[in-house]
Amino acid sequence: MSEEYSREVLGAKWEEFFSDFRYVPRIKAVADAYPDKRSLCVPFVDIDRYDSDFGAYLFHRPRTMLAAGEKQIREMLPTGSEGAEITLRIIDLPEDRHVDIRNIRSKHQGRFIAVTGLVKRVTEVRPRILDAVFECMRCGHQTIVQQEETMLREPLECSKESPDENGIIGCGRAAGSTSFKLVYERSTYIDAQKIELQELPEEMKGGAQPQSLTIQAEDDLTGDVQPGDRVKMNGILRSKLRDITRQRTTLFDIYLELNATEQLEPEYKELAISPEDAAKIKEMAADERIYAKIVQSISPTIYGLDVEKEALALQLFGGIHKEMPDGTKIRGDIHVLLVGDPGTAKSQLLRYITDLTPRGIYASGKSSTGAGLTATAIKDEFGEGRWTLEAGALVLSDKGIAAIDELDKMNDQDRSSMHEAMEQQTISVAKAGITATLQARCAVLGAANPKFGRFDPNVSIVEQINLPATLLSRFDLIFPISDIPDQNRDAMVASHILKSHLLGEALIQKKQKGSTSVSDEQFESIRASVVPAIEPELLRKYVSTARQVTPVMTPEAMEVLKSYYLSVRRGGGTQGGGERRASVPITARQLEAYIRLSEASAKIRLSETITAEDAERAKRIFREYMNRVIGLGREGEQFWDVDRVETGIPQSQRDEIMAIKEIIRDLQGTTVHGAPIADILEKAKARGMSEERVGELISMLQNRSGDILSRKSNHYSLAEMA
Ligand code: ADP
Ligand code: MG
Repeated sequence: MSEEYSREVLGAKWEEFFSDFRYVPRIKAVADAYPDKRSLCVPFVDIDRYDSDFGAYLFHRPRTMLAAGEKQIREMLPTGSEGAEITLRIIDLPEDRHVDIRNIRSKHQGRFIAVTGLVKRVTEVRPRILDAVFECMRCGHQTIVQQEETMLREPLECSKESPDENGIIGCGRAAGSTSFKLVYERSTYIDAQKIELQELPEEMKGGAQPQSLTIQAEDDLTGDVQPGDRVKMNGILRSKLRDITRQRTTLFDIYLELNATEQLEPEYKELAISPEDAAKIKEMAADERIYAKIVQSISPTIYGLDVEKEALALQLFGGIHKEMPDGTKIRGDIHVLLVGDPGTAKSQLLRYITDLTPRGIYASGKSSTGAGLTATAIKDEFGEGRWTLEAGALVLSDKGIAAIDELDKMNDQDRSSMHEAMEQQTISVAKAGITATLQARCAVLGAANPKFGRFDPNVSIVEQINLPATLLSRFDLIFPISDIPDQNRDAMVASHILKSHLLGEALIQKKQKGSTSVSDEQFESIRASVVPAIEPELLRKYVSTARQVTPVMTPEAMEVLKSYYLSVRRGGGTQGGGERRASVPITARQLEAYIRLSEASAKIRLSETITAEDAERAKRIFREYMNRVIGLGREGEQFWDVDRVETGIPQSQRDEIMAIKEIIRDLQGTTVHGAPIADILEKAKARGMSEERVGELISMLQNRSGDILSRKSNHYSLAEMA
């Protein structure tokens, strides 16, 4: 591309293009709707088809090209619309004009490019001065200075070249010998907004940090996108001197001067799947060992945790998101929580799942970044004085999985917006000048440590999770992972870890020396146990394909689901020999979780129908969770008490707490220090409570809820009386 066009030629070409490609009526339509509409969008292919050299000129001299087009539009305005300022926007750029954010280099400066990404943050829309009018304090002459930077540019001198609007000729003084006053009412303004666009998570694998690009949007392009939106943005890449405390450096900051925004479909760019891959995936789905293969392929270097891995497999595929005719939405995402002792491979699993999910984001609840997990409005450097709305992990992993490590350490703001995020799958922000509702249609995979660092086998699990009960109840599955020394299991874990490490060593040796001292048979046998049956790249494609499948329940599956739910509910009403029990074993919320798991099971087979086997598989995993968490490790539905997750306190314990408090109330007057432990124990025993249990309850009431006080050791009184 070497040809340079003169202004006249450019104008003539635009004129011919607009006429030949029937843009005249469109210009008229925009002009008629002016100033509500102020943009004329032209797909690049049109210009290219008209004259490919002319089209290529857009990339060569974008500014000149667009200015000439806009000038031509002004000349073609219908009578009555003179003066309308219509902006020319070019959309649908060819693939070869797309630049990955991380590949932007100095050669792209001044070029017209397209970038795709995820909107990470946006500032408020605020006016920016476009043409600043300055008045000379000495002579009153007014000078217009076009503004492009964030710093206000003043005139260098009071120009005496030509008279201003009031007919005053300038005095010619340099800026040093006069001063200028900004005339606000005569200056012109434009709406401006700064946007940060971040690379799409599905395009960067291997734990790379996402890179981002600053976008400057103006006029009718402002207020157009929300954090979490997936967009394509076209514009001119520009640079600006980096200003460090007013010292000018030789380094430049780059930004995109936005010309057009195109929203991408939410499903855009899941993954490119070739026909060969598709055929292979179909074949894999027909294999009856597919479930075992997928479970084995989730973090194979981690020994055991089979139920947890199976649950994660179901989460990867997910249930079905439903929209009812009445507008009600039911989430399809399966939320899973792993709570466990330190060093039980939780973080490892989270990272592995993030990598397997086409749209997975790994974040830590402890992270100190402004946006946290949900979203927040902040005032920082980025906004240059404006408020900025910034999206956190849950918004950025829309339509994927947000793996949140150390969930128990999240900040208060996240804690309060997590409910909405997990149930309604939106996040509302109302702070300062910003109100917005962002989409967060993702599955949450959380990991947390027990409240006191390590599980206490004597206290129920739910009490040891440092998360509000209302949040816990949003999880479809919760798995406690405790690390209790056990010679048999320890030996298995150790040899598995050793094998993984040996394989890692042997691979490096092979790579460097071409051979390894590990024998071929040993090498192969290790490989078989720690290498995934389905390699991650293929599994990711498999997941992406399967997530698009939308199965429906067969009557048999519905029967299994319903009868199981009913039998658990019935079993909960009575205990042992038909005696009434006050607790509720499960609620409709668990039924929904159970349905979602069955749906995911069908998706794994790429099946259009959910069968009785799917419901049975879901039941097995669901039962395991319920037994461990709300059955307190005992096998059987009769032990379930849903209030352990729904309210945090089981019915039986609520009764016990009432009893203990009653006993203390009765006894606390017997000595000046309160009720002596020996007397409490005696009374509690009479009510059927063990000494151990009384100890637990007292410690809980004293240390956690603060309901009772101990002024002297082994003496207790109720806090309310103090
Ligand atoms: P957590 O997040 O639960 O504290 P990590 O994921 O950081 O634990 O795990 C600590 C290390 O121990 C990791 O390198 C992990 O691979 C290893 N590890 C823990 N449990 C197992 C296991 N069952 N099999 C193999 N490796 C394990
Ligand atoms: Mg960890």
